[in-house]
Amino acid sequence: MTIELDFTHDPNAKSWVESANRHPDFPVQNLPLGIFSTADGRRRGGVAIGDMVLDLPALAEVITEGGCEQVLAADAPNLNALVDMGADAMWALRTALFTLLTDESFREGVEPALIPADSVTMHLPFEVHDYTDFYTGIHHATNIGKLFRPDNPLLPNYKYVPIGYHGRSSSIRVSGVEVKRPSGQTKVPDADVPSFGPSKRLDYELEMAIWVGQGNDLGEPIPIGEAESHIAGISILNDWSARDLQAWEYQPLGPFLAKNFHSTVSPWVVTMDALAPYRVAQPPRPEGDPAPLPYLLDAEDQAHGALDVQMEVYISTAKMREAGDAPHRLSSGPMTAMYWTMAQLVAHHSVGGCNLQAGDLLGTGTLTSGEEGGEGSLIELSKGGKQPIELPNGETRTFLEDGDEVIMTAFAEKDGFARIGLGECRAVIVG
Ligand code: MN
Repeated sequence: MTIELDFTHDPNAKSWVESANRHPDFPVQNLPLGIFSTADGRRRGGVAIGDMVLDLPALAEVITEGGCEQVLAADAPNLNALVDMGADAMWALRTALFTLLTDESFREGVEPALIPADSVTMHLPFEVHDYTDFYTGIHHATNIGKLFRPDNPLLPNYKYVPIGYHGRSSSIRVSGVEVKRPSGQTKVPDADVPSFGPSKRLDYELEMAIWVGQGNDLGEPIPIGEAESHIAGISILNDWSARDLQAWEYQPLGPFLAKNFHSTVSPWVVTMDALAPYRVAQPPRPEGDPAPLPYLLDAEDQAHGALDVQMEVYISTAKMREAGDAPHRLSSGPMTAMYWTMAQLVAHHSVGGCNLQAGDLLGTGTLTSGEEGGEGSLIELSKGGKQPIELPNGETRTFLEDGDEVIMTAFAEKDGFARIGLGECRAVIVG
């Protein structure tokens, strides 16, 4: 359990990297991990600090205590080997980096490893072997259930089983990569047969990405009490969804082409150590809901297993960008909308013996707050496409149009601690 606070969470700590001391997302208390390249194209691990990226392999000569093997493992095109070293190694790297970046005496040795963030290219942080998308947003599940099955919105298994499906890892892309509108089969309710063509109901889903750190062996489930030590950190996930394809294909085996054409993740992995100050109790279940089965129930997890992280979605249409208008916020909400904790997802995923591997991606499912303005998808905001959303420039949307850019952000802030952010997850739709 990564709930203990230490000197790396001190809100008064300052870095000699000046921009870090006024950066909304990346102060020295955050230190998120990512994969970047510069002009030579070599991909390697880095850390965001203010408006700079710290080149981890370049620290090999400087970092002596408790981080040497880690920076060598970061000399790779993905972070899989680094996070597979486990939670203790991740913590050791964090504390070593924190010291290097706050203690002026290391400045001369470390400064050559800093590169301006606006001059690097960010890549997917992991080679993602497997992607599972859960459905933990109970307000989203209820809203969608009502649209697809008015009489029976929430199926009886929902409050017992963390519902999920195995997604597609090959089409996951980092923030900034254009999303091509998918074509497929759709059938409007009053038609006898389906037709083929570009999706007319293209949507986003506001989710968080949970990255698996150290994996488990086949046949060896991860107990709930140990589950969190297998989580490397979190990013923002946009699980693009073609609602018209989904409506026609989803029964009986769940989403398929409606969701396998592209998923976007933000490039920086905010570690569980960085998130320690923002741990909160899992919100109590509504009265009458069943208690989780014993393999999903852990007192520590219930007491500290949720994260007080705020998420936001913005839209910027082609017209808005041409006019120089700022992106328009569509919704916002907290990550505590999850009906299940991150640890419960890991414990459930592996309980039958399934082996998780470093860099596996677990999506939380769309997180809708349950309050007005907290809808995590357009299908909810537009009431199934029946109520167009009006944008400040007079344009309207029910679903996404070509040229629309969707921008998601997330951050954690709390009195007495530094605000940390996850950066951005953005992409433009193209026809
Ligand atoms: Mn989803």
